[in-house]
Amino acid sequence: MLTEELKETAAKYLMQTYARQPISIVRGKGAKVYDLEGREYLDFVGGIAVNVLGHSHPDLVHAIHKQAMQLIHVSNLYYTEPQVLLAKTLVEHSFADRVFFCNSGAEANEAAIKLARRYAHQKYGAGRFEIIAMRGSFHGRTLATLTATGQEKVQQGFEPLMPGFRHVPFNDFSAVVAAASDQTAAVMLEPIQGEGGVHVADRTYLRQLREFCTKHDILLIFDEVQTGMGRTGTLFAYQQMDVEPDIMTLAKGLGGGVPIGACLATEPVAAAFTPGSHASTFGGNPLACAAALTVLRTLLEGSVLDHAKQMGHYLAKALASCKDRCRLVREVRGLGLLQGMEVETDARAVVTDCLSRGLLINATNERVLRFVPPLIISEQEIDKFIETLTTVLNRRITDERAGHH
Ligand SMILES: *Cc1c(COP(=O)(O)O)cnc(C)c1O
Repeated sequence: MLTEELKETAAKYLMQTYARQPISIVRGKGAKVYDLEGREYLDFVGGIAVNVLGHSHPDLVHAIHKQAMQLIHVSNLYYTEPQVLLAKTLVEHSFADRVFFCNSGAEANEAAIKLARRYAHQKYGAGRFEIIAMRGSFHGRTLATLTATGQEKVQQGFEPLMPGFRHVPFNDFSAVVAAASDQTAAVMLEPIQGEGGVHVADRTYLRQLREFCTKHDILLIFDEVQTGMGRTGTLFAYQQMDVEPDIMTLAKGLGGGVPIGACLATEPVAAAFTPGSHASTFGGNPLACAAALTVLRTLLEGSVLDHAKQMGHYLAKALASCKDRCRLVREVRGLGLLQGMEVETDARAVVTDCLSRGLLINATNERVLRFVPPLIISEQEIDKFIETLTTVLNRRITDERAGHH
């Protein structure tokens, strides 16, 4: 189907939940993708922080192919080796003792919320169920996770929301203390708010939260759906922040593009789930787990993590120099290869301009651009990206000036 026809057919048959860019992508290689007309794009979206190994990574393609030939799905009524090995590898490289697998970030957070409630319920009774979450957060689109999400735009029209959530400002420890009570089961947050506009949690704040939660046996939940899997330069973001959560959720980068989510927890917390208390038909299926195991092993055994850390520094420096050269840039913030840029112009128009110059980027809102390239991105590709972005931003100044006269 040609792009125009594809757009018309999509407009007719798909529920209209997305505002898509007007291109049809047919293949990808490394940090580049190609549209139907054969145009090349440098990919600084990476499937929204998903394609950590880039597109068509040979080891990932091989693992998926091999597993598909052998066994795709059998359900959790039986053991399958990829799932068990993936859990073991995740546990060996994190604070956690046990893992539950599901299929998305929202589902991983649902599992985390259910686990926290059940832990508190078993230990302290039915009155302890509340989750303190942050303003500006994003945890998913199911009813519980959109309630946890501290952004009205994802909640509007879906009321009544789930009971048992309270929101406080991000990076404000005293607000958490003030909101906490003997009803509080958990505090839930992203170490870096991604969808909310790339806001990094302060180290002191996280340390204070950890101490407070430990003291009151309130569970600390880190949503690392976006920050996990090497995105920030370490396997998980918390590893750079001197605190460990009780529960952590993963998805996005975990399968390198194959849908999979995970909820990890320490032994005493994980013990709240018993046979029958939580489940997912697809969760941890051999195909998804074989893919995720390959992603994880490639990050751990290869040089990808080190490379991601170096490229993260390189990107941050390049963005800082772009800020110096362009007055539309108000702020650059982030960690590793999760970087955001606040601009004094329409961020969505910048995305469109970049697209027309062969660069894919994403705007999290009207003023913030987000850059989440594959971890295999090269210095040359970052240079190219900065060149295009700077040109686009500086052109907007000229165009806006021309527009005023
Ligand atoms: C993307 C995201 C989610 C939701 O993941 P889905 O797979 O879209 O359900 C949850 N939390 C964070 C931090 C995310 O970035």
